[in-house]
Amino acid sequence: MPEGQIVRAVSGFYYVRTPEGEQVQCRARGVFKKKNVTPLVGDLVRFDWTGDGQGFITEVKPRKTQLIRPPIANVEQAIVVCALREPAFQPMVVDRVLVHCEKAGLDVVLCLTKTDLVTEEEEIERIRSVYESVGYPVVATSVVKGEGIDTVRQYLKGALSVFAGQSGVGKSSLLNAIHPGFQLATGTVSSKIGRGRHTTRTVEILDLPDGGQVADTPGFSQLTFQGMEASELSDCFPEFRLRSPECRFRGCLHRNEPDCAVRAAVEKGEVDAGRYEHYLQFLQEVESLRRY
Ligand code: GDP
Ligand code: ZN
Repeated sequence: MPEGQIVRAVSGFYYVRTPEGEQVQCRARGVFKKKNVTPLVGDLVRFDWTGDGQGFITEVKPRKTQLIRPPIANVEQAIVVCALREPAFQPMVVDRVLVHCEKAGLDVVLCLTKTDLVTEEEEIERIRSVYESVGYPVVATSVVKGEGIDTVRQYLKGALSVFAGQSGVGKSSLLNAIHPGFQLATGTVSSKIGRGRHTTRTVEILDLPDGGQVADTPGFSQLTFQGMEASELSDCFPEFRLRSPECRFRGCLHRNEPDCAVRAAVEKGEVDAGRYEHYLQFLQEVESLRRY
């Protein structure tokens, strides 16, 4: 039975791309509704041809990952985009996005944009050292100077990626610079409405010329910690996860517990104090969400 990947979904139709590059317009068999499986963009599926470029999806392969907003399956990597200026760099927002990437099980590349607006090179190096020490690759980019674009291209090869980050940080500009064929709308929010290619947004998977794929819609449009456990949150900080086996208590939340290896590492300057502060704030948020 033929197999393929859903690259776009519009009102009950799933566009399945075969390994040979053919696109088949499919519907899902009723069996999915019974099993409560809704096919998602990104799903690898089996389907039956019914002729004329049409078919029926008969099976959805197990998913490696699943994002909720936007709904997309099998994303492997997030390019977390944050501007250095306009809007100003916001480490707390970055850490919040990173938690969501970790929770979704994605590899992360941190992409700093608009370096052309920064005069102090040390600022970029400071940010780089914080996040590289956590284990995230950091790329400094500018579409104005053409800086870092090729490095981002290299990271995109061979994976299905989403771009994540607040509106205005330069995600669309970066994607357009990576592949001029994309022509995503850029600019202010109000100017994007009406200029967008779709009036009702649907997620679409785009192929990169050098291999790899990107979703044309940013990942993590909602960044609440609803439904998250406190222990899950601390696991979403790789530098805590690494040290927590050394904490005296199993399930240590690294707050007031005695002999906490994470707090000790913060005091020694081995774990970034800023990220630890953000963690404590997120923890409060998680706990207050669970109370109600
Ligand atoms: P998105 O909302 O994250 O997709 O951001 P956009 O790509 O639409 O960019 C928002 C604004 O930032 C636009 O006005 C862009 O022209 C501008 N911008 C994007 N990248 C750069 C950059 O590298 N340097 C400068 N100076 N401006 C940029
Ligand atoms: Zn601890």
